[in-house]
Amino acid sequence: MIEINGLHKKFGKNQVLRDLELSLKAGGITAVLGPNGSGKTTLIKTILGMVIPNSGEIKVNEKPIKKDFAYRKQIDYLPQLANFPNNLRLKELLRMIKDLRAESHYRDEQLMDLFELRPYLNMKLGQLSGGTRQKVNLTLALMSDSPLIILDEPTSGLDPVSLIHLKQFLLEEKKVGKTIILSSHITSFVEEMADQIVFLLDGKIYFQGSKAELKSQSEKSNFEQAIAWVLKQQHV
Ligand code: ADP
Repeated sequence: MIEINGLHKKFGKNQVLRDLELSLKAGGITAVLGPNGSGKTTLIKTILGMVIPNSGEIKVNEKPIKKDFAYRKQIDYLPQLANFPNNLRLKELLRMIKDLRAESHYRDEQLMDLFELRPYLNMKLGQLSGGTRQKVNLTLALMSDSPLIILDEPTSGLDPVSLIHLKQFLLEEKKVGKTIILSSHITSFVEEMADQIVFLLDGKIYFQGSKAELKSQSEKSNFEQAIAWVLKQQHV
C-alpha cells in the first residue's frame, strides 16, 4: 500500500529524515514511534504530500505521489494540531466540511454519538475544551470512511471513556480491512493497538516489524522495556 525509498528531508540545515526505507502492506495498524523531534510528523506529512522531500520516492497504491494528488481522496487524516475557526459553531463546521468534501456518505452522526458531541453542536469552537476539540478533530478525520487512515497523536487530550471508544472504533475499522497508521508516544496504547511498529530516531528507522519481533530482537518480554532497548541502539 505504501512504499518509501531513499527518503531525505532537510529543513534548512536540519536533516529530519535520513534515507528512509519503508514498506507497509494494506490492512492492520502500524504505529510510528519515536521521541519528540525524531521526524514522525514530517514522515506522515510527506506521505500526505504536505511536506515535499529533498529526495526519494513515495508510492501509494503502487503509484508515485509526485504531482498527482488524487490519492489523497483515499486518506482520512488527523493532524496533530487542529486549528479551528473560533467563531464558528460545531454544527456549522461539520456542514462546511461536508460541503467541501462532497462525498456520498459521512459518518459524523455515528462519531458524534461515539464521542458524545451532540451537546456541543450549537457552541462556538473557541468555547470548547482541549479534549472536546480533539474529539471534533477525530470526528472530522474519521467521518469520510476512507481506506487509509493516518492519525497523528490521536489520543492527545482524550478522557478515558473517549479513549476506549476510539480504540473500539479503530479495531472495527481494522476488521473491515482498513489500513491505519498512527503516531503516538503512549506505549500502552501502541502495545494494545499496533500490529506493526516503526521506530524513528533522529530521522532514521531503528526498528520495523511486529511487536513479537521487537520483543524477540530486544530479548525483552515487556513492551516498554523493548522500546527502551530500541532507544539505546542509537548509542551502540
Ligand atoms: P516528531 O513528530 O517526531 O516530534 P517532527 O517531524 O515534528 O518530529 O520534527 C522533526 C524535526 O523537524 C524537528 O527538529 C522540528 O523542529 C523540525 N521541523 C518540523 N517541521 C518543520 C518546519 N516546517 N520547518 C522547520 N523545521 C521543522
